[in-house]
Amino acid sequence: MKILVTGAAGYIGSHVLKQLLETTQYSIVVVDNLSTGSQKTLDRLREIREFEFVKLDLKEFDKVATLLEEKHISIILHFAASIVVPESVLNPLKYYMNNTLNTTNLIKCAVDSGVKKFVFSSTAAVYGEPKELPADGVDEEFFTSPINPYGVSKLMSENILRDTAKAHPEFRFVIFRYFNVAGADIYYEDNVLNPRIGQSFPNATHLIKIASECACGKREKMAIFGDDFDTCDGTGVRDYIHVDDLADAHVKAIEYLDYNPSDTFNVGYGKGYSVKEVIEIMQAVTDTDFTVDKEPRRAGDPAKLISNNTKISNKINWVPKYDDLKLICKSAFEWEKEVEK
Ligand code: UDP
Repeated sequence: MKILVTGAAGYIGSHVLKQLLETTQYSIVVVDNLSTGSQKTLDRLREIREFEFVKLDLKEFDKVATLLEEKHISIILHFAASIVVPESVLNPLKYYMNNTLNTTNLIKCAVDSGVKKFVFSSTAAVYGEPKELPADGVDEEFFTSPINPYGVSKLMSENILRDTAKAHPEFRFVIFRYFNVAGADIYYEDNVLNPRIGQSFPNATHLIKIASECACGKREKMAIFGDDFDTCDGTGVRDYIHVDDLADAHVKAIEYLDYNPSDTFNVGYGKGYSVKEVIEIMQAVTDTDFTVDKEPRRAGDPAKLISNNTKISNKINWVPKYDDLKLICKSAFEWEKEVEK
C-alpha cells in the first residue's frame, strides 16, 4: 500500500514521515512545495530508508490528480498548509486558497482515485476563545467558533471532509485537532539527545521555539504576553504536546481506519502549563537566564486551552511517551543549537 504525505518537509509532517519510515513498511510518496519546509530535512530522513519525493504545489490541481492515479495512492496524510495566525488575519485569501481550496481539491482527487483513508491536520484553533473552560478540558463536542481565518480555513476543511465521507462511505478520515505542539525528534547518539529534525520555520511566534532561541543566544530576550489572565500566575495556560507523540497518533490512525469509522480527535496531554512555568523550565534545563519582559496580551489569546484527550486514548489506543515538559524544552533547545538562524 502506498501512502502520500503532503507537507512532509515541514515540522509536523517530517516527524510523521520519520515514524512511518522507522516503524512501517509502507511505500511512501512525499509531496511538498518547499515554501516553508526544508530539503535538508528530507535528505536526513532519507538516511532512515528510501521514499519518493515530488516537488509540487497542491494548487496544481491537474498534477495532483495525475499523481494520485499514477502512484496508486491508497492513504493520504495531509499536512501541507499555511499556519501563521497573524498572517491569516492580514491575508485571509492565502489561507482559504492554500488550506481550504487545496484541501478540497485533494479530497476530490482522493475520492476520484479510490483513496480509502485520509488523515487530516486540524487545530485547537477551531475552538476559538472559550469563555469557560470545562474542568476536564475541551472535548471534541465543544462548540467550534474559530476567531481567525487560519482556524476557519481548517474548520471548513474539516466540514468538507465530513460531508464527503457521508456521501462516499468507502472514503474514511481521521481529523486530529492539535493543541500546542513543540519539541524535536527524540534521538540519542552515545546517550546524548541529538535531534535529527525539528522546527525550522523562520520568524517563529510559538512560545517554546522563542524561548529556545533565547536559551541558545539567537534572540536577546523575549516577552510574556499578558500577566493578568485568570490563571494560576496570571499568564496564559496551554497544553504542550511533544511532536513525536503527535506523530505516533497519525501512524496509529492508519490502523484505526481499518476497523473503525471516520472520526475527529483532540491531541494533547490534557494538562496545562503557564507561560511563566514554560520559561522557567526552559531556563532550568538549559541552565540559562535570558531576559523576559512583560507586554500586553496578544489579540485573541484565550486565558487557558487544555484538551480533554479521553476519546483518543480510548479509541485509538494512543499512549504518549514524552509527556514531560522538561524533555520537550530540552529537545527544542538541542535542535535550535543545530539549526541555522
Ligand atoms: N506567548 C508569550 N510570549 C511569546 C510567545 C507566546 O507570552 O513570545 C504566550 C501566548 O500569549 C500564549 C502562549 O504563550 O499564552 C502560547 O502561545 P503560542 O504562540 O506558543 O501558541 P498558541 O496557543 O497561541 O497557539
